[in-house]
Amino acid sequence: MTPQTIFDIMLRVAEESNNEIRYSHKYCEPGYDTPECEIIAFANWNTGSRFIPDYPGGVLPRSARAKLWAHRKLTGFRLPAPPSWKINRWSGKRSEDQTMPRICRILEYYGIECEWEDEWTMCDDCHGAIRTRPDSYGWTRSYWEDCEYGEPQCEDCMMENPEAYLEYLEGDPRRALTMDLDLEQCDYVHLDEEWEHGLHEGQADSPETVAESLRKLGVERFIFAIDGVGQFDCHFSVWVHESEVPKVIGRDSLESVPPGPSPAEKCKRALQEASIALNNSQG
Ligand SMILES: [Zn+2]
Repeated sequence: MTPQTIFDIMLRVAEESNNEIRYSHKYCEPGYDTPECEIIAFANWNTGSRFIPDYPGGVLPRSARAKLWAHRKLTGFRLPAPPSWKINRWSGKRSEDQTMPRICRILEYYGIECEWEDEWTMCDDCHGAIRTRPDSYGWTRSYWEDCEYGEPQCEDCMMENPEAYLEYLEGDPRRALTMDLDLEQCDYVHLDEEWEHGLHEGQADSPETVAESLRKLGVERFIFAIDGVGQFDCHFSVWVHESEVPKVIGRDSLESVPPGPSPAEKCKRALQEASIALNNSQG
């Protein structure tokens, strides 16, 4: 049987057990190789709860105790254990729905990649798979999603026509370039200063204050770029559109951008307050 046939069968099995599998034909995420069969499956592969039709929403939370409690809270009466919760004669444990972990093992055996549905989405243009949750401290997004129009677009599709992405980034200190786009080719000039924001002492630079300083110079067409991300900090810099570069050149006001509120100080204060609260509660 081909991976595609197996996959089609597993889609039906999942559907019959009230689970959903979505799929994509390629990865659009740096560092991931598309499998030979060109099938990537997304689902919640965890052991599930049995479908209980009289529960609004169908599926109860996972642990048996949570299930009973949730039902009692919702309906006001104690739930007699439904047939699907039968205690296993051999192990003495309540039965759980093993459909999804089993499907996952079968798919992987046939060379199909299985990913967690809550960590991935699909590019609206090419339907390739894009990661939306970090898999390491240094991870940054390789897609963008306009809050207003909403559909995610992968790095490759963005590169074909970067204007909309540049417009989205421009002039907003809450947004930053995280993709491998050459801003120099798009007529932006990199400013020499680099800033740090994080929990280490002295990493109190804030994009908001940098943006404010730029606006004071009359610069509106700037783009923030994330140059590196660590476990506790992030390095960023700024690009200014060619047309506005003369406004910044020779001005030293950017070098003396005042730091924002210090994350390190805030963290220290929170820890001190927590330890005082703990001492008080023990005393
Ligand atoms: Zn795409």
